[in-house]
Order: sequence, then C-alpha cells, then structure tokens
Amino acid sequence: MSKHLYAVIGLGRFGASICKELAREGMEVLAIDSDEEKVNEYKDIASHAVIADSTDEFALKDLGIRNIDHVIVAIGDNIHASILTTLILKELGIDMITVKAQNDYHEKVLNKIGADEVVHPERDMGKRIAHSIISSNILDYLELSDEHSVVEVKAGEKMDGKTLIDLDIRARFGCNVVAIKRDDDINVSPMADDVIYAGDVIIVIGADQDIHRFEKSLVIED
Ligand code: ATP
Repeated sequence: MSKHLYAVIGLGRFGASICKELAREGMEVLAIDSDEEKVNEYKDIASHAVIADSTDEFALKDLGIRNIDHVIVAIGDNIHASILTTLILKELGIDMITVKAQNDYHEKVLNKIGADEVVHPERDMGKRIAHSIISSNILDYLELSDEHSVVEVKAGEKMDGKTLIDLDIRARFGCNVVAIKRDDDINVSPMADDVIYAGDVIIVIGADQDIHRFEKSLVIED
C-alpha cells in the first residue's frame, strides 16, 4: 500500500501542531501557508513546505494537491478563506477534508459544503477543561455528537466496593459503563456483578444530561 499523504493549510498554532505531530509520527506532510515566514519555520519539519494562497485554485493544482489523501484546513480568523479553500478542495475531489471551524455558523457552512470533518478545538478543549475543573475525578470528556458524550471518571468513595448492580447506573441515569480500568488492566465488557474500587477509572457513555446526573450523584465528591 502506498503511503498516506497529508497536507496542512494554515500554520497558526493549531495547524502547526498538527503538522509537527504528523511529521513526528513519520507521516508525509505538505505544509502550506501564504506567509513566507511561517513556511520557512516548517521547512525542516514537514516533508515539503510551500508558500501559496489556498484560495487560488490554480496555485493548489500546481502544488499537486490532488495527490493528497487528507487535507487539514487550519485557517483561523479568515473564515472567508477557510470556506473558499474547502470548496476548492471539494471540487478537486480530495478524499478527506478536515476543517477547523471558528464558530457555529462557520461550522454549519462547512458541513453544508461537504467538509468531511469539522473540528472546533477551542470549544472542545474549553468543555473538557470545564469538566475537569468541576471535579478532579472527571479525567476526560469526549463529545460524540451534539447530545452524547463519553466521560472518563475516577471512582471515589461513593462507588468504592459497589458492584454495577448496586450502583444501577443504567436504570438510574440512563448511561452505560463501557469499561473499567484498574492499574494496567482494562475490562471492556463489565458484568453486573463486577466490583468497582476507589481509584478505578470508569468509562461511561450516554446523553449529556444523563452523564451530568451521573456525575453529580456518583462522581463529584462533597
Ligand atoms: P491558531 O489559533 O491556531 O493560531 P489562528 O486562528 O490564529 O490559529 P490564523 O493566524 O488566522 O489562525 O491563520 C492560520 C494561518 O493560516 C496563518 O499562518 C495564515 O498565514 C494562514 N492563512 C490564512 N489565509 C490563508 C490562505 N488563503 N492561504 C494560505 N494560508 C493562509
């Protein structure tokens, strides 16, 4: 199988971080920015770094963008340029386009014009941090959709020594425990009579309001 080719357009903090990580993982990555200084910074990091305005269809074609499997559009403030770039990439037939959205309206437009994945790093990170601020027992929080999430929580006194049946999380809160991690062990299909101990890490999936009730009742210690 030939190597997967990536391109990152826009080398602000977000795009740059994706670009560095892909390169660190040994991926072939083309870095594109209209700012010469930014491009120079990434010359030694990305496989190729080029100066181009991504709203110029011909410039993108000249770069051979059609050969790229996955393009990440990380243009921040200039929403117009981000939308236009996405539209051009779509028309050029790029297989996978991931775009960073600046706000909800931007996100809606990107979804409408066919972006394959729209990410909202500031909003998502803000939510995750808010959850970890509410309780140090909430370790991670991942949004699955507008209404559903997965949380990783640390069991405290309230769950210590109880079985899943005792806690009755599904009936009481409508969410599901999908895994229990204890030290290096992970139990991915927990049974009703499995016991949870303080310090275990529990992964729970459900609707946001149900997860919220579960957290309030069993995770956040008084
Ligand atoms: P971050 O928060 O990730 O730093 P940001 O919102 O500050 O992002 P910007 O600085 O607005 O992001 O844009 C990211 C990069 O995109 C900049 O380096 C900018 O030069 C580049 N950029 C903007 N428009 C274009 C374009 N049309 N073609 C190529 N690069 C562009």
